[in-house]
Amino acid sequence: MSPDWGRAVKIVDGADRVCLACHIRPDADALGSMVAVALALHGRGQRVVASFGDEPFAVPAILRFLPGLDLLSPPAAYPARPEVMLSFDAASIDRLGALARPAAAAAELIVLDHHASNTGFGTVSLVDPDAAATAVLAVGLIDQLGLPLTRDVALGLYAGLVTDTGSFKFSATTPQVHGLAARLIAAGVDPAAVSRELYDRAPFGYLGMLAAALGRAQLDRAAARSRGLVWTTVTRADRTPSNLPLDAAESVIDVIRRTDEAEVAAVLKEDDNGGWQVSVRSKEFIDVGIACTELGGGGHARAAGFSYTGRPGEAIGALMRALDEQ
Ligand code: MN
Repeated sequence: MSPDWGRAVKIVDGADRVCLACHIRPDADALGSMVAVALALHGRGQRVVASFGDEPFAVPAILRFLPGLDLLSPPAAYPARPEVMLSFDAASIDRLGALARPAAAAAELIVLDHHASNTGFGTVSLVDPDAAATAVLAVGLIDQLGLPLTRDVALGLYAGLVTDTGSFKFSATTPQVHGLAARLIAAGVDPAAVSRELYDRAPFGYLGMLAAALGRAQLDRAAARSRGLVWTTVTRADRTPSNLPLDAAESVIDVIRRTDEAEVAAVLKEDDNGGWQVSVRSKEFIDVGIACTELGGGGHARAAGFSYTGRPGEAIGALMRALDEQ
């Protein structure tokens, strides 16, 4: 099914108010795409409501540099039955958390997403599994609506594009991706400033957390059908001394996954309630999206995740079985 731009444009153009939502614990693609479209619509004088279904509601610290965050409101202020709603980067309706109910009750729900595992929810599909990021679909919608790519609009889109392509390193990095990046930079985005915000800064306490996590890393060469699995944990105790939020642990996977001896890398991050958020990456051969979907999570072939309640050893055991089953 290809994106239904015509219907999406007709619905958004005719809307009194547009309600936007992205998946819970938003990454740069989810939040960046959403605020970009919110800014573009707001810029032409349209009423917008934008949120995500996390309670308590807080923008991840690493994304606070994005423009347009003043357009956000907490999920409690979200309309119960939106006339027109847009969903960003969510593969299923339950990924909207507290906003899944309004989404189910919305008269029109336009879904912008690029997950192969997208369930096909909503009334209008702007889903393209070949798109490198939801930001690609967001810029498509902005173009189709004839709205200008201002510097602030372009910044959210660029943050989504750079994150989901792993700084233009992953396999979805096509000539079109670089073409879009060029357009966004021409619109005024400073790529160095975005990289610094997203990748090249952390409070000093991050070094201690990283050291603890790296010191516990384990390599299991027999796992992942003998292609190797490297994994570690980031516990609440690692974050406590410097009062680091959970998203400070997000980048640990990018160090762990360098391990030559392992096709698959996993980082188990203990959240503030003692549950585990597991990030999984692969290099070439194993589809971790399938494995994580089996474990109640989801994602892409090379980058996916799932949540687990229990001991970290059990979570890794469950992951190993899911990787072997494929
Ligand atoms: Mn994405």
